[in-house]
Amino acid sequence: MISAPSGAGKTTLCTALRQKPDFVWSVSCTTRAPRTGEIDGEDYHFLSQDDFNHHLEGEEFLEHAEVHGNRYGTLKEPVLENLRNGIDVLLDIDTHGASNIRACGDPMILQALADVFIVPPDLEELRRRLMRRGTETQEQVEIRLKNAELEMECWRDYRYTIISGSMEENIEKFRAVMRAERYLSHRMTAVESSAKATG
Ligand code: 5GP
Repeated sequence: MISAPSGAGKTTLCTALRQKPDFVWSVSCTTRAPRTGEIDGEDYHFLSQDDFNHHLEGEEFLEHAEVHGNRYGTLKEPVLENLRNGIDVLLDIDTHGASNIRACGDPMILQALADVFIVPPDLEELRRRLMRRGTETQEQVEIRLKNAELEMECWRDYRYTIISGSMEENIEKFRAVMRAERYLSHRMTAVESSAKATG
């Protein structure tokens, strides 16, 4: 689970991670309009308010939240399906969604959970990045910067924090985290079965 204020470099990091087969990308639902180049069903499931409500009423979301004036939600079943098959799932999620997942109570999800917060070097750099990206209007940039300040307060809730550097640095740091996570004793089912086998 990876969170960051908008413009901290998270999307670039996730895009790079999605090129490699070590994770399945969790395709979120959103009511936000697609940006140029975004593909429905790959980047997001772009939904109308009615369709989003339909998933909500069907209790299909693992979590959902309103972020920057749009609604976002993670579908539960694809996440569980992958975890059942031993496949890691990468979630790009805001800080509210992250705390909802920590509180979800599902043992399989809590066992699998590793959370990483990406911190921008500073808010001025964040403003520069958002302006350079040019995907938001000035008003949207201001909303995202205001939210960034609030989101930054949550960094201590995450097991790992990465201070955003170059894309290469961020990828390397994230991979180091994932390597460490995979060696955690409580994930060592291989040791468990080997211990059972040797009696
Ligand atoms: P963007 O509109 O820039 O793609 O994403 C805006 C924010 O929504 C980001 O902070 C991103 O992490 C968050 N987000 C994306 N998908 C989900 C989701 O399924 N649930 C929640 N809670 N937040 C999401």
